[in-house]
Amino acid sequence: MNALTLTNAGLVMPFGGSGGYASVRAEDGVIAAIGGIVATDEEFIDLGESLLLPGFIDIHCHGAAGADVNEDGLDGLIEAGRHLAREGVTAWVPTLVPDSHDNYSRAVKAIDELMRRDPADLGIARVLGVHYEGVFANENRCGALRKEYFLEYSKDALAGLPLPSKGVKMMTLAPEIEGGIDLVEALVSNGWIAAAGHTSATAEVLDKAWNAGLRHLTHFFNAMDGIHHRSLGVAGWGLAKDGVTFDVIADGHHVHPSLLAAVTRARGTENVILISDSISAAGLGDGEFEVWGKKIGVSGGVATDRNGTISGSVISMKDAFNLVFSNGSSFEEASAMASLNPASLLGIDRETGSLEVNKTADLTAWREGEVVLTVIGGKIVHNAL
Ligand SMILES: [Zn+2]
Repeated sequence: MNALTLTNAGLVMPFGGSGGYASVRAEDGVIAAIGGIVATDEEFIDLGESLLLPGFIDIHCHGAAGADVNEDGLDGLIEAGRHLAREGVTAWVPTLVPDSHDNYSRAVKAIDELMRRDPADLGIARVLGVHYEGVFANENRCGALRKEYFLEYSKDALAGLPLPSKGVKMMTLAPEIEGGIDLVEALVSNGWIAAAGHTSATAEVLDKAWNAGLRHLTHFFNAMDGIHHRSLGVAGWGLAKDGVTFDVIADGHHVHPSLLAAVTRARGTENVILISDSISAAGLGDGEFEVWGKKIGVSGGVATDRNGTISGSVISMKDAFNLVFSNGSSFEEASAMASLNPASLLGIDRETGSLEVNKTADLTAWREGEVVLTVIGGKIVHNAL
């Protein structure tokens, strides 16, 4: 049996319950016990009252540490995954920007290959599947996406997108494009998670998309129509529609922290998911980088292209967690937004996303803004204690 006991852990439990300081024991990759544990002679680690959180889950990430999901293949995914693990991310959904069919195929083949390997052995965050951002989006809301690769929707165009042999399938799309509602229906009936983003859809179109099964909005406020008090816009619809969830790039630049706090209060923590939307330059500091064929400058933690358009972020989920915590959310709320809520959206919350017995032992220990330990499948992949 493969066992690990973490002692003296400040437990951050789901649903607002603080667990106090206790021990957590993992056996064969799952959480076997919380509290009431007598550490025996197997491996045990004293967390010194660091917080113990369920590992962060990033549903929107284009890469990090110099590696890009579209361009850098298996080695790039491993490089990015190693960086993410150090940042407390235990699982992520590699996110593809619109590209040629050949590049999509190469990237998805690498994702598929990596999903067959043991992330703990490689010391990397778990790969959960694939997120197609765009390809069926609104050209007028393309942001940093290359519209020359956008496709018109048809059943064949959708069927032509390569997929890994297992795992989650997510797509960010604009429901107002020709055939957009059919697209949502096709996605939902084939087990995809459909999210509206890079969109100027009216409330009427969004209601139709809702009826077709769309339940989520991608990077709320960014690359979508904002709120006007006489016209709902996409953001207004997202605020007004009961039951819809949204994710937010919580880097303090894409959405003003005060607005993020306000919409979180308005819609409830349970409907908010933190994402990084990080690009390959994440983790490399300030400088000039080449991303998706364009020069991107990173200065003071903001990535912009030559026209000054913000082009993804350079944060990690740890930074997003820190931001919402410093912004007034409790540890429990910040943790739900970073772990349980993304797991729920992806439909994997029975297995992961919170500190509960029988869930996967994907864990992150946090102290004073830093990740001090990352455990994936019950194995330590990062230790800075
Ligand atoms: Zn993105």
